[in-house]
Amino acid sequence: MGKFSFEHCFEIDTLKRLIAQHQHLFRHQSLADLYYRGEKLSVTAIELGQQQQNCPTVLFVGGVHGVERIGAQVVLAFLTSLLNRLPWDTHLQQLLQHVRLAFVPVANPVGFLRGSRGNGNNVDLMRNAPIDSDEDVTFLVGGQRISSKLPWYRGKAGMELETEALVNYVKQLQHQSSSVIALDAHSGFGLLDHVWFPHAHTRQPFEGMGYIYRLMQLFESGYPHHGHYRLAPQSQFYRTHGDIWDYLVATNSSEKPLIPLTLEMGSWAWVRKNPRQLFNFPGYFNPQQSHRHQRILRRHVVLMQFLIDAAYAQIIEQTTPAQLIHLTQQANRFWSKKG
Ligand SMILES: [Zn+2]
Repeated sequence: MGKFSFEHCFEIDTLKRLIAQHQHLFRHQSLADLYYRGEKLSVTAIELGQQQQNCPTVLFVGGVHGVERIGAQVVLAFLTSLLNRLPWDTHLQQLLQHVRLAFVPVANPVGFLRGSRGNGNNVDLMRNAPIDSDEDVTFLVGGQRISSKLPWYRGKAGMELETEALVNYVKQLQHQSSSVIALDAHSGFGLLDHVWFPHAHTRQPFEGMGYIYRLMQLFESGYPHHGHYRLAPQSQFYRTHGDIWDYLVATNSSEKPLIPLTLEMGSWAWVRKNPRQLFNFPGYFNPQQSHRHQRILRRHVVLMQFLIDAAYAQIIEQTTPAQLIHLTQQANRFWSKKG
């Protein structure tokens, strides 16, 4: 066992334990097999619910960046809660007859073992998709091909195994679904919880923005005391090359809506309350005190449950073309005045 194995394996071990305990309740598969220091690791996908074609799907992704452990933990905590509810919760049982829930809780397992943002080749998976910004990107942060020793490295050429696995999996889900809503959980800088949607590579508006505006209206009116999210196109904060979700929406040739949301949990709020974390790199992105940790795991349950309820209600599918035109106009007005 390497010296990092125990410390950095919590999320991978949790995932293995969930599979061992609950595999009668779901389907699971390896999207990619990886090796690190002689250990075999998988990019594991878990699916619950409806298997037939053309049902709505909600996909939860965590752990794209190996140092952002809280993202994987939020996804794993929600999955655990669903699995524990499933035997008795008749609402959830009903929902799962009409909705597919997919989980990739640890998209970058080697990064988790190494304690690195990037994968085993030091490639930042969220800068690695084959899509380039033609606008000004933030130096280094936007993605760079200068050196794998610097952060935000895009890789030499082509997609890394983990990137390709996630891209192909989303395409496969789309093929089987009437719509796909994805929530990709990260933690980052800043005080606030952001929810970003495409585009990351350009200021051009995302064509699915009307759906996002509709979801925002429903969330804000249904849960008026959970308005702590800042929802906006990522490009209003910074622009990057190689964003996986941008690549997927740009190459989406199907008629089926793909609605990718990136949850970027604000870390500075934790740092401010516990400045010691500034000197501990992994801690920078991860709240360490247990009451704070509990609060973070709790904080996003309402949003995640809302997304699966919206899928069950077929909010995306039932939006008529005329409504979508109107919603898209509203969305453009709303986010252009903020940009
Ligand atoms: Zn991240």
